[in-house]
Amino acid sequence: MAIHDVLIVGGSYAGMAAALQLARARRSVLVLDAGQRRNRFAEHAHGILGQDGRAPSAIADDARAQLLKYPTVTWIETVARFVGRDGDTFRVQTETGDAFEARRLILANGVRDQLPDLPGLAERWGRSVFHCPYCHGYELDGGPLGVLGVNEMSIHQALMLPDWGPTTLFTNGIVEPDAEASRQLAARNVSIEAEPVAELAGEGEATVHLRDGRTVELAGLFVVSTLEPASPLAQQLGCAFEESPVGRVIQTDNMQATSVPAVFACGDTARAAGSVTFAMADGAMAGMAAHKSLIFGEAA
Ligand SMILES: Cc1cc2nc3c(=O)[nH]c(=O)nc-3n(C[C@H](O)[C@H](O)[C@H](O)COP(=O)(O)OP(=O)(O)OC[C@H]3O[C@@H](n4cnc5c(N)ncnc54)[C@H](O)[C@@H]3O)c2cc1C
Repeated sequence: MAIHDVLIVGGSYAGMAAALQLARARRSVLVLDAGQRRNRFAEHAHGILGQDGRAPSAIADDARAQLLKYPTVTWIETVARFVGRDGDTFRVQTETGDAFEARRLILANGVRDQLPDLPGLAERWGRSVFHCPYCHGYELDGGPLGVLGVNEMSIHQALMLPDWGPTTLFTNGIVEPDAEASRQLAARNVSIEAEPVAELAGEGEATVHLRDGRTVELAGLFVVSTLEPASPLAQQLGCAFEESPVGRVIQTDNMQATSVPAVFACGDTARAAGSVTFAMADGAMAGMAAHKSLIFGEAA
């Protein structure tokens, strides 16, 4: 079996940015990708210099076409299930039982968004229900906007949003702003709605139906999603994780090295507040760092 220089799990923005640096260093790179980009629910991606407003898939397709022109890149559409290590070599097994070996590993497998269990919410995710105002706030044309209270981070989200439009915080029986938070919300002109939310339904983009029968028409509803790693590989390897207010991310240093020698991580799986731009930057760093470690050793 050929031993690749680097095996990358995840072929989206972070994984491809890592692969590009390695391909340009003429190293053999194997990308295993399940094709489930986190932003696949959104029609357009925003806030990415030079790509603003393009479809997420168009950005990824162009990147992949450019990457696959390099002869040392191999791409396989599959799910990586298990990883083990034999001395200096990693062995990754896929869902179909195929196994691949490499001297360095880059985890770029992203995260899964855990959404609150509210009828009508999941099908609006990425269309009129969002987590990130920088990505989708501008397109909501000044509001009105809502924040669905799910945890203390919802207060932070509600304090941010008035720059994008008049904002209502639906506390939903879960979020209870203390005196200081109430003062801050009032200073930002955030309205508070204490009646629990029953569902999102109807013709409107994000029409909130309250339990008492009232409805509130919104241009967009924001919700804090809880993140979990999209693959178990980091855990199988024994990588250290960091707790963040939105979930666990793989701990990395400023070269994207994890706590496990020769394993690097980049993109959303290693950063709590991710974006395409950050994923690409972290991916480029991971690719360069993995390359340097092949030359100078793991501590390079
Ligand atoms: C609804 C929504 C809209 C968004 N809009 C924007 C926006 O407009 N602008 C912006 O900058 N950011 C946006 N984001 C954030 C953006 O999607 C992420 O920051 C970005 O996708 C992270 O890139 P990544 O490469 O780290 O992970 P991802 O893009 O999530 O890619 C991870 C890849 O790894 C693969 N993978 C996972 N596990 C395995 C495995 N075991 N084996 C093989 N492959 C695996 C996945 O299938 C996927 O292809 C949005 C997010 C959401 C949820």
